Amino acid sequence: MDSRRDHGGVIFVDLRDRSGLVQVVFSPELSPDAYRTAEQLRSEWVIQVSGTVRRRPPESENPTLPTGLVEVFADEVTVLNAALTPPFYIEDDVKADEALRLRYRYLDLRRPKMQRNLILRHQVVKYIRDFLDARGFLEIETPILIKSTPEGARDYLVPSRLQRGSFYALPQSPQQLKQLLMVSGVERYFQIARCFRDEDLRADRQPEFTQLDLEMSFVEQEDVLQLTEELYTGMVEKLTPDKKLVKPFPRIPYDDVMARYGSDKPDLRFGLEMTDVTDLAGETEFRVFLSTIEQGGIVKGFVAPGQGHYTGSDMRRLEETAREFGAAGMSHVRLQGEGSPSDLVDEHFLLSPGLRMPVEWSRRLAETMGASGGDLIVLMAGPARRVNQWLSSMRDYFGERLGLIDDDTLSFAFVTGFPLFEWDENNNRWDSSHHPFTSPADGKESKLDGDDLGGIESKAYDLICNGSELASGSIRIHRRDLQEKIFGILGYNREQVEERFGHILEAFEYGAPPHGGIAPGIDRLVTILAGAESIRDVIAFPKTQSGTDLLFGSPSPVDAAQLRDLALRIAE
Ligand code: ASP
Repeated sequence: MDSRRDHGGVIFVDLRDRSGLVQVVFSPELSPDAYRTAEQLRSEWVIQVSGTVRRRPPESENPTLPTGLVEVFADEVTVLNAALTPPFYIEDDVKADEALRLRYRYLDLRRPKMQRNLILRHQVVKYIRDFLDARGFLEIETPILIKSTPEGARDYLVPSRLQRGSFYALPQSPQQLKQLLMVSGVERYFQIARCFRDEDLRADRQPEFTQLDLEMSFVEQEDVLQLTEELYTGMVEKLTPDKKLVKPFPRIPYDDVMARYGSDKPDLRFGLEMTDVTDLAGETEFRVFLSTIEQGGIVKGFVAPGQGHYTGSDMRRLEETAREFGAAGMSHVRLQGEGSPSDLVDEHFLLSPGLRMPVEWSRRLAETMGASGGDLIVLMAGPARRVNQWLSSMRDYFGERLGLIDDDTLSFAFVTGFPLFEWDENNNRWDSSHHPFTSPADGKESKLDGDDLGGIESKAYDLICNGSELASGSIRIHRRDLQEKIFGILGYNREQVEERFGHILEAFEYGAPPHGGIAPGIDRLVTILAGAESIRDVIAFPKTQSGTDLLFGSPSPVDAAQLRDLALRIAE
């Protein structure tokens, strides 16, 4: 029961099920017994009603409700179960805080919005299954109790009772298993796979999450991207036809995406592209620019169209915002007047204090960056990596602030050609940008013996959408010698390689086909399609930011006997 309204002489009850609401009318004339029972009914009670479906009288029609033209005229009602008063109203605009909703998740899930999310998630998974089945993929389950397989996160460990002191790891992904299935001759594999990563949680992360994991033999990168694009476009057009889809999905090389957007997962629903102006900055006397360039840094920025009217105090506030994003500082040029840079005169250019340059310089800067009268140029200086991070936060900020983001548009793109390795500053060693099974790009293998490891391109790709990464994948290594070499670069010694990866290296020696795949995250995809605020809204039983399940109260201590069985002791 959703609600009851007593209209003196008639009682109206809104009855709710997964599909929506229907109005039930109890009248003492039709059935005095049913009417008396109806007087006791309360929200969330479970009742059984029989009666006649009839058209509502014109004055009580409700066109906003799908069933608003009819009602059930009740002649019998049975109470199947009463209910306590719920701790919050079961309604879409729920006021309760999330902790309470998660504690009573079974009530929270009764809200129509949550039911819609669950239904959409089911439809997404069903679409994926049908799509891949039609293309010759086999759905194959892989074990959850396995050995650690690196995806760059910490493992969840499960102690073994039968082999005391030994542990299983929960899979961070079925990566090695799907590659082994390619060696097994499966050719086309997929799985709706649960993955486990013991990471510090961020808003859009869960310790366990669901991926569509897929792998194909004898493919090139473009085969995997084509398939993924077809899957996503078909799915979006069928399941969320109101969304605007930008087709075909652009393929943007990594270097290009970083240069233009400062991020490898930019929101492409708006422009605000960046320009490197290190050369021009080097012509100034500005200390900030010059010392940055001297230390090998860059000066880069973007144009905020029509924002040249900012006052000095607006600019100080904006610099404050930039600092909140971590930026060391921000410089600017405000363009007054109208027209192209050549139409503008000295007084039209308002430069950051300290950035004193003749008008020709400002004109060239504006031309290089595509700014004209009325625009604001935002500039940042520092090490390339940092500048990109800061600027990309500022770009998102302006995208939002200038109203450039259309909530109904899905702007997908593939980012390709990621670097094979990245330098891990904390541990002073090379790490895989994607994972160690990723193949170097064609013709780059010989560079593995050189000293520019950071400059080696790989065959890894991401699918991004509206500022999120939705999928990662790569063409893999399928030869033992090459795979061993990569492990060596990553700092594993012979014994470690044998102990951790001996099985897959050995498999590569028994006729492993070239192969590649991708793993689209399901949680984030459904969040975007549902227009939900958080991935927790599209997962039936999610965990909090601190990894707690508030409904079950886990994680929790276990019995001393359980620990004894496992030969474990908790250190104080
Ligand atoms: N296993 C990878 C991941 O989970 C995806 C892939 O390479 O297919 O990120």
